[in-house]
Amino acid sequence: MTELIKELLTAYGMERYCDKADAFNVLLSDLFSVNESMNLTAITEPRDAIIRHVIDSLTVADKIPAGAEVIDVGCGGGFPTLPLAIARPDLVFTALDSTAKKLTFVDAMARKLSLNVTTLAKRAEEIPECRERFDICVSRAVARMNLLVELCLPQVKVGGRLIAMKAQSGEEELKEALGGIEKLGGKVISADAFTLPDAGERYLITVEKISPTPVAYPRPWGKIKKKPLI
Ligand code: SAM
Repeated sequence: MTELIKELLTAYGMERYCDKADAFNVLLSDLFSVNESMNLTAITEPRDAIIRHVIDSLTVADKIPAGAEVIDVGCGGGFPTLPLAIARPDLVFTALDSTAKKLTFVDAMARKLSLNVTTLAKRAEEIPECRERFDICVSRAVARMNLLVELCLPQVKVGGRLIAMKAQSGEEELKEALGGIEKLGGKVISADAFTLPDAGERYLITVEKISPTPVAYPRPWGKIKKKPLI
């Protein structure tokens, strides 16, 4: 699969990561074999997995400043954390998920590939120890934007950023989330729509933290879901 990974990285304008193709190959090969006994991904066709897991994760790599401390909220089987940690060894990752079982794979990969990744098996709305601690928060496929901001923005330092990885619905979701973003101390600084060929529309929303999140947030999940911030 290494040659196919190099070919696709080049086709998607990411040839600068071709020297990491062996590590991406180990990641996907282990993902497929662990996936036989633990449900980590529905995408098991190699070309599709390279595009939707590796290349999609790498679309945010250039948005993260050198040496940043990054939290991935709802990393699941390690996306985007693991491809980013392979591509950007200068970054320090905390991979958070409420499902401890999925993190055993992330931990195993971090050890096998010597990645700068620590896992945390907790819910994002229950991590006071992480409050205002991170330069960057990334999150893919976890919750609608108006809910996601309350899980993510409290963990970001003032001056830091949330990068929400959304699909086509992102534009609509962002409109619903604007009130909450302001209440949580954030300000939208960019929203980039683009097509990831053979994977679909993407919408990357970057929110800068411009003031501390009020102590009332995050609320318990039941309240976040029942009454999203407006
Ligand atoms: N980000 C990964 C990806 O794109 O492949 C996984 C996406 S999966 C659809 C959503 C993940 O978010 C699940 O693993 C789930 O356990 C996690 N999750 C949902 N709500 C969460 C919360 N409040 N705190 C931590 N993790 C959460």
